[in-house]
Amino acid sequence: MQNLTFNFSGQVALVTGGAAGIGFKLTTSYLEAGSKVVVWDYSQEALNNAQKELSKYATQVTFQQVDVTQRTSVEAAIKALPQPIDILVNNAGITRDKSFGKMLDADWDAVIQTNLTGVYNVTKGLLEKFNPQTQNKRIITISSVVGIYGNFGQANYAATKAGVIGFTKTLAKELGRKGFAVNAIAPGFIKTAMTNAMPKEVLDAMAAKVPVQRLGEVDDIANACLFLSSQQAGYINGTVISVDGGIVL
Ligand code: NDP
Repeated sequence: MQNLTFNFSGQVALVTGGAAGIGFKLTTSYLEAGSKVVVWDYSQEALNNAQKELSKYATQVTFQQVDVTQRTSVEAAIKALPQPIDILVNNAGITRDKSFGKMLDADWDAVIQTNLTGVYNVTKGLLEKFNPQTQNKRIITISSVVGIYGNFGQANYAATKAGVIGFTKTLAKELGRKGFAVNAIAPGFIKTAMTNAMPKEVLDAMAAKVPVQRLGEVDDIANACLFLSSQQAGYINGTVISVDGGIVL
């Protein structure tokens, strides 16, 4: 896919969960567009792998091990931040899928703690760490189509992904006057390392249900995210961009 081209030189983007999956693509795309990037991720192994893969951007990228569910972990990482940020992408997220009757308290708590409280912890902690010089401050949170339409077996996950939409719209109202644009992206079914391991027939059957007849690529999400981060998107505030091939229509 030919990606959209942007120029973020002189800016700093912080991506949570930025060492794997969609987050890694976001990290790579911001780096390619000239931005400095701070990668926060839980997994040291994923951080090490990402660092190796991105060695040619060594002067542009910083890696920090952070657990977004833990305020002490977030606070420690904030203290060690190399410089103020311009763009925050709340991407870290987990699933613990079970039908509601079978869902354990631990499944509920883990998903709420990561996908909702984690977004609060990170955004709250970083609010004063945005570069006061920039008028293009951006907060982008990765929601999901299931936060809009629900999904069997994902009561916990859907609740968090709907929750971050309310969070996004509220911050858009509160922070617009301070030079922020705050938006969410709702991906549909995106191909990642996990889906690549699934049988081709299963993936083909899933693609057939999407009006555009394919699963989403991580580039689809990166393109939307970089567009929302750009100066040209500055009048887009408080919206949710669905990047789902129209699956829910
Ligand atoms: P991945 O599991 O591939 O990547 C998520 C990253 O976030 C991992 O590196 C993970 O670390 C990290 N992470 C998890 N918990 C924490 C934590 N407590 N603190 C810091 N980092 C953490 O997920 P995807 O790339 O598939 O998803 C990225 C986002 O996109 C998520 O918010 C997800 O809900 C959303 N999304 C994904 C879709 C898809 O089809 N893939 C569809 C719709 C939305 P570790 O590996 O150690 O857990």
